[in-house]
Amino acid sequence: MKWEGNRQSDNVEDRRSGGGGGFIGGRSIGIGTVVIALIGWGVFGINPLTTIGVLSGGGEPQVQQQGPASAPPAGDRQAAFVSTVLASTEDVWGQIFRQGGAQYRAPKLVLFRGATPTACGTGQSAMGPFYCPGDHKVYLDMGFFDTMSRQLGAPGEFARAYVIAHEVGHHVQALLGTTAKIDSMRGRVSQRDQNQLSVRLELQADCYAGVWANHSQQARQWLDQGDIESAINAAEQIGDDTLQRQQTGTVRPDAFTHGSSAQRVRWFTQGFKTGSVQSCDTFGAQAP
Ligand SMILES: [Zn+2]
Repeated sequence: MKWEGNRQSDNVEDRRSGGGGGFIGGRSIGIGTVVIALIGWGVFGINPLTTIGVLSGGGEPQVQQQGPASAPPAGDRQAAFVSTVLASTEDVWGQIFRQGGAQYRAPKLVLFRGATPTACGTGQSAMGPFYCPGDHKVYLDMGFFDTMSRQLGAPGEFARAYVIAHEVGHHVQALLGTTAKIDSMRGRVSQRDQNQLSVRLELQADCYAGVWANHSQQARQWLDQGDIESAINAAEQIGDDTLQRQQTGTVRPDAFTHGSSAQRVRWFTQGFKTGSVQSCDTFGAQAP
């Protein structure tokens, strides 16, 4: 992926280190918790905050105090990569919203380590990257990229770009009112149906990531051979069935919250092929 030299976003907020930010917490979460979290949440969740106490063993999570927002330091290559991908999502979604007669309000992306306060409660690295609709921010511990490469079998820069684009997809859902609509249905349906709604929401975010990939490639011509495959591979490796099989040896479709590997691959590919938001109607589809 030829990302270097492209515009970087101003919307990255770096909470990774002290620098006056009053850093208390640390990387207190071990690999074991990451694994547990991946079973519970799948990856790239939305608003994943009700089980934090469970994941952290019931103890109080250590939280970084919120200092003034600051941009990542120059020369931080991985942060520059994240900023560049985020900037591309701003350009792509800005254009798509404009064409639809609306205005796109870009999300902030918070880089953190360990734990950090969010409008949805305390966010933790162990949950994997997530989006909080309450403050319109994407939360990312870039250590997750190592987890992808080393534990999840999903290496590659464009696989990482897909993660960011998926979270931005949740932001688009929030702007379009989809998230609120689904939230209002949650309390009235069974756990099984809640999971189904969650799957459709997640698959739509995958499709939106594909839509972004399509438009960003048209604008930047930055994909190399194998890049799309690395994103598709990531979608496959983080399918609920694949993760369940790895972690527990069995597959329980009723417990899916993000979709199977085949579904995640299909919807990302759908968005990438069409470049069309309308093609991402996972709620209208009989069986997504
Ligand atoms: Zn998600």
